[in-house]
Amino acid sequence: MKKIIVNSLFLITLVFLCAGWGPLTHKKIVSKSSLSFNDEMYGFKAWIPFLEKYASLPDLIRETLPEESKNHFIDLDAYAEFLEKGSINPDYNDLIVTYGKKFVDEQGLLPWATLHAYDSLVVAIKSADWGNAQIWTAKLAHYVADGHMPLHLTTNYDGQQTNNKGIHRRYEENMMNRFMDKVNYDGLDVKEIKNTQSYIFGYLYSNYRYVQGIMEGDTYGKKMAGASDGDMYYREMWNKTSDFTVPLLERASNAYACLLYTAWKNAGSPVVGFLGEDKIFAGKDVVLKAIYWDKDEMSFKINFVVRKRSFVLLEIRNEKGEKVKTLLKDTLWVGDNTITWTPDNSVLYGNYQVILNSPDNVQIKVFPFCAN
Ligand SMILES: [Zn+2]
Repeated sequence: MKKIIVNSLFLITLVFLCAGWGPLTHKKIVSKSSLSFNDEMYGFKAWIPFLEKYASLPDLIRETLPEESKNHFIDLDAYAEFLEKGSINPDYNDLIVTYGKKFVDEQGLLPWATLHAYDSLVVAIKSADWGNAQIWTAKLAHYVADGHMPLHLTTNYDGQQTNNKGIHRRYEENMMNRFMDKVNYDGLDVKEIKNTQSYIFGYLYSNYRYVQGIMEGDTYGKKMAGASDGDMYYREMWNKTSDFTVPLLERASNAYACLLYTAWKNAGSPVVGFLGEDKIFAGKDVVLKAIYWDKDEMSFKINFVVRKRSFVLLEIRNEKGEKVKTLLKDTLWVGDNTITWTPDNSVLYGNYQVILNSPDNVQIKVFPFCAN
């Protein structure tokens, strides 16, 4: 019994910590990726608003598809060969022969999830399947960004081995959200990638080097502030880590642009198409239709249709991507549904997102909540 409790706690911690960068950082990375686009890539600029909105798509997918969690990290230093020579065998099938599938899967599948998203993007572009191309590219951008988050590359992902417990959330979200307006950079030049596998593993190895700097920044911040929270701690932490954190984001934006460019080249450089969300999601089993304000009831009404019996998770999140309310978490039969959200007094005016999440299908609508 005790073992079961320990295991499930571990799983909860793992799921909680696997978000990658926070939603605002993911959004920043994709929005700035267009600064790296060359002239040939002008057609992709129309995709950017969709990408910004769905920058955390794989993190949302995880909520209804637990096996997705493994795609967001790789504990490089769990491999003896990485500690010896700074690299691992990049072939998944070779690795499982050496270490066993269970071990390899537990250390995380980030590089292979990135490659899979890249390959799927090439296929979608080649077949002019622009809806799927936009979804795969959102996933690709997310995994590339996670690969530039050093704490997603180590067994010491939460500082638990070095007396820096809790650093994961403090660094990736709390600190980043505080200093987001200080993250400024231009686009590095885009280039075509010859070998996508070695390119992806290459940036993982070089980003791993910053694990130590993050731990040092945390230790220093705690020493100066006498706490691991508050303005002073985060200021010191930012001062110690921004010199490499901002370039990590800059390289993430560029790496995504390079992979997108390479995918398009390998798909035969077609004229780039674009589909609106209504069309992208039209054929799904569950479709988010509308959200509107009901003046009489002082409530929002969210309308969606279920075409095939499905599990549905319906949530309200704020602009930072933080959960405000879970409206529904249930398996639904076929039919038309209207769910009510009545914001209570604690809900501030601003932009909100309604997120409809069913296995492997996430739809988002952004709406304002303001004085009516
Ligand atoms: Zn992630």
